[in-house]
Amino acid sequence: MDIIISEEFSSPAIDRLGTRFQILPDGALWKDPARLRGAVREARALLVRNQTQVTAELLAVAPKLVVVGRAGVGLDNIDVAAASKLGIVVIAPLSANATSVAELALGLMLGLARKIPDAARSTREGGWDRKSYTGVELDGKTLCICGLGRIGVLVAVRARAFGMRVVAFDPLIPPDSAVLQTTQATLCEKLESALAAADFVTVHLPLNAQTRRLFARKTFEAMKRGAFFVNTSRGGIVDEAALSEALRSGHLAGAALDVRETEPPGSPAELEKFANVILTPHIGAFTLEAQRRTLEAVADDLDRALSGAPTLNFVNFELPKRSLSPAT
Ligand code: NAD
Repeated sequence: MDIIISEEFSSPAIDRLGTRFQILPDGALWKDPARLRGAVREARALLVRNQTQVTAELLAVAPKLVVVGRAGVGLDNIDVAAASKLGIVVIAPLSANATSVAELALGLMLGLARKIPDAARSTREGGWDRKSYTGVELDGKTLCICGLGRIGVLVAVRARAFGMRVVAFDPLIPPDSAVLQTTQATLCEKLESALAAADFVTVHLPLNAQTRRLFARKTFEAMKRGAFFVNTSRGGIVDEAALSEALRSGHLAGAALDVRETEPPGSPAELEKFANVILTPHIGAFTLEAQRRTLEAVADDLDRALSGAPTLNFVNFELPKRSLSPAT
């Protein structure tokens, strides 16, 4: 077998791969670790989204694997260090969906500012209650962007176009970085000072040991009373119980989450009860454009890796460091 596909995919780019390589597409494979281990034993490539846990243990039972393709951003489900040690290339087209996520973050900010989801629900149910749906403008407000990377920068540029002032927290960006000129953002050394200045806070961080549950009780307390909170990065960055408390007490005016601590979240979840909370099912990258760009880039790179050509969207090295076994 050449390529194991362990999550749901449907794209002409994948169909094209199927004309050149032997593919096992099994959208349910990620749910069954034992079956997944069996499937990768003979595979030369593995294609995943964000559900398949590509652990060191899984890679250890795949002696022919030369490439792992991740259709999307966020490598928290892939042990890249273990893959690198084994000489396996990891592919992830990191910029392919940045615009879509940035646009969703702006959409959620507008949705919170103007209470759009709840106003739409009320109107659909026959209401015509204009007073309850008095909102606020983005213009003139301060936006704090946590993580001024690919997505954060696109959010900053768009927020500036809405007349917002932008402050950013990202300790990995040097104070003379060109990114600060592009975005006109003011870099804050301390998260607390960035949060205290902001009417809106949007998170664009990777999930790692430093950022896990970074947004907990103390962080929400550091935000301005009446501020709005948006997370389109990873659910593990937010302590949802603490967020619920900040909303219940009225400290926060509203929140929007595209990503959750557990996906899909267990029910009945606390956050679903708030009218000033917008919840979406991890759709940041789900636009026609982002899906097409991502799948074309990953499929092209899988083809390259299996044909011995250098890959373009590698996150460790461009060519496999183990030799390519013939397909079985
Ligand atoms: P990126 O790596 O380009 O940017 C992340 C930024 O965070 C970097 O500038 C980095 O310096 C900064 N950073 C890292 N650790 C930090 C820390 N401890 N404190 C403060 N800043 C820190 O990533 P990106 O492409 O902009 O994506 C951001 C996140 O968005 C991804 O990691 C992914 O989890 C998430 N994402 C979600 C969706 C979705 O569907 N909702 C889609 C794509 C990406």
